[in-house]
Amino acid sequence: MASKVFFTKELDQAAELFDRASLRTLISKGDQVALKIHFGEPGNHAYIKPERVKPLVRKVRDLGGKPFWTDANTLYKGKRSNNESHLQTAHNHGYTMNRTGADVIIADDPDNVRGLAISVNYPLCNKIHVAPRALVQAMLVITHFKGHELTGFGGALKNLGMGLGSKLGKLKMHQDCPNCPEVKTCKKNQTLESCWVGSSPLVQQKIAEYAAGIAAQFKSKIGFISFITDVSENCDCYAHNSAPIVPDIGILASFDPVALDQACVDLVNQSEGRIKGPDKFRTIWPEADWSIQLKHAESIDLGSRKYELIKI
Ligand code: SF4
Repeated sequence: MASKVFFTKELDQAAELFDRASLRTLISKGDQVALKIHFGEPGNHAYIKPERVKPLVRKVRDLGGKPFWTDANTLYKGKRSNNESHLQTAHNHGYTMNRTGADVIIADDPDNVRGLAISVNYPLCNKIHVAPRALVQAMLVITHFKGHELTGFGGALKNLGMGLGSKLGKLKMHQDCPNCPEVKTCKKNQTLESCWVGSSPLVQQKIAEYAAGIAAQFKSKIGFISFITDVSENCDCYAHNSAPIVPDIGILASFDPVALDQACVDLVNQSEGRIKGPDKFRTIWPEADWSIQLKHAESIDLGSRKYELIKI
């Protein structure tokens, strides 16, 4: 059955979209509500600006929820690799109580950077390692839809799956130890250093499994909103960003992250833009077949690639 994906071209209508998509059903009075978002690496200017998502804080509070912005630290060294500098980066990019009406809580437990181990039963993963502070009563996954060199595009699946993996979880998603010549001497599972060995297909599949495992912790109290704005070739982890590959298209919402990502990539590919060709992300990143993450997520029942687009 096709999943419903709600769409508005009006970039100041996140709150209206929230209502039309019935995302209010996620929230009960007193719920802690994690607003999962990427705060942008210092130097990047394409990340979602706080003013665009601030109305969602108001919506959550009006429903009696207690919203907070959240993201997890990176595996690689940088301004978002520990709780302190990550929090400062979020504040520097405007995600403050004063400006948005909600505080920021970095999802990692600084006393346990390996994160919370959760048993799952997927083709590749039997355990996922998650940054625990985001695992509260309800979650809204707010995604900046853009290109990505390893996964083709970075959408809702990647924002949730890779985004909330702990440092160990991110390492597990990126590694491919059984096929790695370094396996006998490598200490990265102890030192939690970056590893980029895993191939695009493998990493995409593990991202889908992490997204499914994390979503399962919320049962039905998780929803997704994606912004197809400032669609840069690279992700917001970069300290710079390319010119958008297409003009801003709009905001989409759904309970189904697979249908949402499929709708976003279809709208980008249907749009005019500076990148030509039927598949703009494959034109930019020919090695990355972005459909793998969607196929795998569908195969583990996280959602459907079939969708009904409802314009508001
Ligand atoms: S370099 Fe990466 S893939 Fe290779 S053994 Fe180390 S962690 Fe595993």
